[in-house]
Amino acid sequence: MSAGGIHPWQLHDDARIAVIGGGPAGCFFALHALSIARQRGLRIQVVIFEGKDFTQRGPTGCNKCAGILSSRLLRNLHDLQLKLPPHIIMSEIQSYVLHLEEATVEISRPEPWRRIVSVYRGAGPRLGNLPPAVSFDSWLLDEVQQRGVQLTPERVIEVRTAGRPVVVTRNSALTCDLVVLATGVNSRPVQLPDLNYVPPTTEIMSQDELLVSGTSSDQRIHIFFGHSVGALFAGLIPKGRFINVSLLDHKLKKDNIGPFLEVDEVQAVLATNPRRLCGCNPRIAVSAALNFYADRFVAIGDAAVTRLYKDGIGSAFLTARQAARTALEVGVSEATFRQEYAPFCQGIDRDNRIGRVLFTLWNRIQGSRRLSQAWLDVLIAETELIAAEQYGRRALWSMFTGDDSYQTIARHLLSRSVFFGFLVGLLRPGLWSR
Ligand SMILES: Cc1cc2nc3c(=O)[nH]c(=O)nc-3n(C[C@H](O)[C@H](O)[C@H](O)COP(=O)(O)OP(=O)(O)OC[C@H]3O[C@@H](n4cnc5c(N)ncnc54)[C@H](O)[C@@H]3O)c2cc1C
Repeated sequence: MSAGGIHPWQLHDDARIAVIGGGPAGCFFALHALSIARQRGLRIQVVIFEGKDFTQRGPTGCNKCAGILSSRLLRNLHDLQLKLPPHIIMSEIQSYVLHLEEATVEISRPEPWRRIVSVYRGAGPRLGNLPPAVSFDSWLLDEVQQRGVQLTPERVIEVRTAGRPVVVTRNSALTCDLVVLATGVNSRPVQLPDLNYVPPTTEIMSQDELLVSGTSSDQRIHIFFGHSVGALFAGLIPKGRFINVSLLDHKLKKDNIGPFLEVDEVQAVLATNPRRLCGCNPRIAVSAALNFYADRFVAIGDAAVTRLYKDGIGSAFLTARQAARTALEVGVSEATFRQEYAPFCQGIDRDNRIGRVLFTLWNRIQGSRRLSQAWLDVLIAETELIAAEQYGRRALWSMFTGDDSYQTIARHLLSRSVFFGFLVGLLRPGLWSR
């Protein structure tokens, strides 16, 4: 406690928080911080630095993602009194169609409340003709500003944290009480000379936006696996008149999307030759950052940790909320973040390890005709059961939507009906002799 009775690590009236990055993590942090401050009768100033203009079309205005909002995120938005305007929603997703080597399986929403939608992060495809108002990130940043957050439309170059942090742009140097790093993993790193922050490791994905005549009413996400499509996995995500294609392959070629669009099965879904309207190779975070907190410094969203291969925006909401609670309710020292924030992020990281095992098993199953046929038997048998007991289908739904943790998915997969159904499928006469 200082002489005046104010704890040096607690935010006081007129404290200033600088948030670097106005994507989902930065905006969610600002909204949580303001809401907690209001509840505690604290006057704080929040400044967001953002280098991009989200009303631009194509990669320059876009935070490069497939744009699926999970049902958990949609429910969480209500907690911040955020109501997604209808014009931002490109498509309401009703089901996932999994294109396996052996067959195609459609997994519908297990419960009606599990609503999933697709959005554009910027103003849509580079060669599209959507209005700027469709951008999810622009809408979120506007909401944040309407609630009193100040936007500095500049890129941050450096943060000095010896003493009170100073955030440096080309035109200004702002001293603050807390710096929140919400820069994601797709921008030039901010210089942090006084910190040992190590960003998450990443993998590179390929994306494009397609215009295909006559498929605008499809509300199904198609996911392809296996050697035949030349990728670990690839998705076709409906976005109104357009379709997003997102592809992960550990071998990045000059053009990963072109050959994928040539595959017969993909052509069967698209029906006509698509026009490619955009294109980028964004990075996806696949591990946690190191040293992501210090005195008066905390990283959130992709810059800290995110859920493996799913629901990155939803997990940005969660890390932003936990960091805001820690900073506003407890304090901004390294020790406080270690005690209150780090365990939360470590929980996500631990769950991702289970996810990695599940994805490895999934790829193994896809690589073996016997295993994938036994797995198909489980899914087919489940159609006789009520939705609540379709554990195999629920597991797959959550694996791609992010509705449940990987731990819950693993529990579903180890349920009696799935486990024994799979064993019975493996022992089915004829399966081994074919
Ligand atoms: C191909 C692909 C598909 C994906 N699909 C989905 C999906 O369907 N659903 C989903 O939920 N997640 C998806 N994700 C993950 C999702 O994109 C991220 O998890 C999410 O965007 C993280 O939010 P963020 O705010 O942490 O980072 P970002 O969204 O990357 O935002 C960071 C912001 O910081 C700004 N910034 C960076 N550096 C500076 C600086 N120095 N100064 C000022 N501003 C700066 C950037 O301009 C950017 O606006 C996908 C990712 C990839 C790669």
